[in-house]
Amino acid sequence: MDQDFKEFVDRCFEVSARKEDISRDDIIRMLGVSPDSEECEYLGSRARELAAIKSKDKATLGTPFGVDYVPCDASCRFCSFGTRWGLMEGQSYHIPVEDIISMMKERIAAGYTGFTIRTTEFYPVDKLCEMARRIREEVPGDYRLGVNTGELTLEGCIRLKEAGYNSAYHTLHLREGIALRSLPRGVCRPCVRYRNHL
Ligand code: SF4
Repeated sequence: MDQDFKEFVDRCFEVSARKEDISRDDIIRMLGVSPDSEECEYLGSRARELAAIKSKDKATLGTPFGVDYVPCDASCRFCSFGTRWGLMEGQSYHIPVEDIISMMKERIAAGYTGFTIRTTEFYPVDKLCEMARRIREEVPGDYRLGVNTGELTLEGCIRLKEAGYNSAYHTLHLREGIALRSLPRGVCRPCVRYRNHL
């Protein structure tokens, strides 16, 4: 194995274990590793080790709820909800919050401990906040409530947290802004913003 790459991965491991950010260049270097290489295997094993430390090697049994079935103007290339593809034309259905609450109660009784509210790109933060407040009022228990929605401002993140969400899904997508069209080409979403504020 390339010793230089191994030391680089070890350095990134230490930085992440201290909850500090690794640099954009480091992320790009990791993404460039060949998937069939020993280096990739080493990177994966250290990532697993870090995940085990951070999660205390415990998993959460969770489930998402997609709450709006509407055409989405972001029109990501892979998504059937995209307005541009015409598959959702004339459709508009929002799951009532009462139904989400009742499904959550059923699942909590079955042992689930995490839930994610999922929406299309332009779902209003106000409605998400209202939904979280209702859920927290009517579904007691020690469960995690996440949200997977469109782009958020810092102010939006803070409001979501105050309304009752524990986390917001975010990841760095490959081909961000190209296949996934919610952002201008070449712009990476600052995922650190979400992690720090939810
Ligand atoms: S933002 Fe989400 S819902 Fe909208 S088109 Fe893209 S993947 Fe589909």
